[in-house]
Amino acid sequence: MTKSFKVKNPATGELVSEVNINSKEEIEQALENGHLSFKKWSKINAHTRSGYLKDWSNKIQENKEELAKLMTLENGKPLKESLGEVDYATSYIDWYAEEAKRIYGRTIPAAAETKRIIVSKQAIGLVAAITPWNFPAAMMTRKAAPALAAGCTFIVKPAEDTPLTTIRLIELAHEVGIPTDVIQYVIGDGKEVGEMFTSSEYVRKITFTGSTPVGKSLIKNSADTIKHVTMELGGHAPLIVAQDADLDFAVSQTIASKFRNAGQTCVCANRIIVHEEVVEAFSEKLAEEVKKLKVGNGLEEDVQIGPIINEKGYEKVVSQIEEAIEKGAEVLTGNEYNVDKEQGCFFVYPTVLKNVDSTMKIMQEETFGPVAPIISYKDLEEAVTIANNTPYGLAAYFFTNDYKTGTYLHDHLDFGIVGWNDGAPSAAHVPFGGMKESGLGREGGIEGIEPYLETKYLSIGNL
Ligand code: ADP
Repeated sequence: MTKSFKVKNPATGELVSEVNINSKEEIEQALENGHLSFKKWSKINAHTRSGYLKDWSNKIQENKEELAKLMTLENGKPLKESLGEVDYATSYIDWYAEEAKRIYGRTIPAAAETKRIIVSKQAIGLVAAITPWNFPAAMMTRKAAPALAAGCTFIVKPAEDTPLTTIRLIELAHEVGIPTDVIQYVIGDGKEVGEMFTSSEYVRKITFTGSTPVGKSLIKNSADTIKHVTMELGGHAPLIVAQDADLDFAVSQTIASKFRNAGQTCVCANRIIVHEEVVEAFSEKLAEEVKKLKVGNGLEEDVQIGPIINEKGYEKVVSQIEEAIEKGAEVLTGNEYNVDKEQGCFFVYPTVLKNVDSTMKIMQEETFGPVAPIISYKDLEEAVTIANNTPYGLAAYFFTNDYKTGTYLHDHLDFGIVGWNDGAPSAAHVPFGGMKESGLGREGGIEGIEPYLETKYLSIGNL
């Protein structure tokens, strides 16, 4: 009997679709096919590969409404955010369609007149990706586009909660003529498929977006066959509001950063660190605006905050809020819930907490929910100490119009992505990635194609 996953709408509990789980044999076959098709795909010239990517991007745009609706149905994010994600997802394909044509080598002056030296780049082989549920489209294209542009073949295992968007995107790739063995998906349990990917001799690279513990195990398991790895892992982003900041602007950007996807992104502001002179005014303004956010089914008009993806995610958010309140945090708004455990629907109303301190779990762990905890600081040194006091180093934000304050914070924050008066810095043309336990490598920008390429050095002698 074929096993399957039920994909449910997290806003209503309704069944969206049932997806068959691939058998071990099917996954092994897919890996072999991906490996065999690499020879041909990597030899196709870069301009032709670029053309395929452009066609794929156009096809996705033609199907934008359908894809966005599917994404909201399986993920719960507001439709407007899903439409935005389709654009964000295609922006990676567009960017790497261009970068495919710019995979440059170089020549090096030799140390002898009789020699010449040439350095060239070559695709690394079959790439296996594991993607999360919070950006079902963009986290896949951010990996697939540079892989295909470089000449690699690609296989992805999407998250169990949200496989449908990925499946549809890959069908569209096949519709525009990208060979079926060049870009593939497999459906299965994360751990089992992960182990098949890491132990396969056909796979030359693992690229993963997800939690830090899973990332660590993928790195360990990749060691036996020395695979390349790119890891986009957890975050715990600080957002610092300096004394001189434009508070209204800082509030609007805090909301953009904190409450997107109901707070379920790895770059969401997770700790709001505000100068003691402005903490009262900022907290009040933030709570006032947060109260206006509309919670509900993402398909309904004007909804800004959808559900938490599943019960595990909900339990984590609630336990952080409850522990903070027990330890003395003050609720300015939120700490309200709309839950139907039987149906599997978990809504957390956007919450602002004041008087938070560093002993609370919410200040130590990623929340992945719509909760903004506010802590105050006296001077910049203290702000930086609080901000860097985490094993994570993905994104950090600060708000100031003073260039010395901004320069100091930029210099001292140990994070791979820094937004100065900018709560939404992600884009296809910039290098996205974290320091410390937030990951290895970068995705996007010119950096994002390098991990799919090997360097080959040729020395010509006896000239
Ligand atoms: P989250 O807890 O936010 O779902 P995960 O890191 O568990 O984050 O999930 C991200 C992706 O990793 C999903 O596609 C999931 O199926 C996959 N996954 C989960 N556990 C493992 C594992 N042990 N090995 C490989 N992939 C895994």
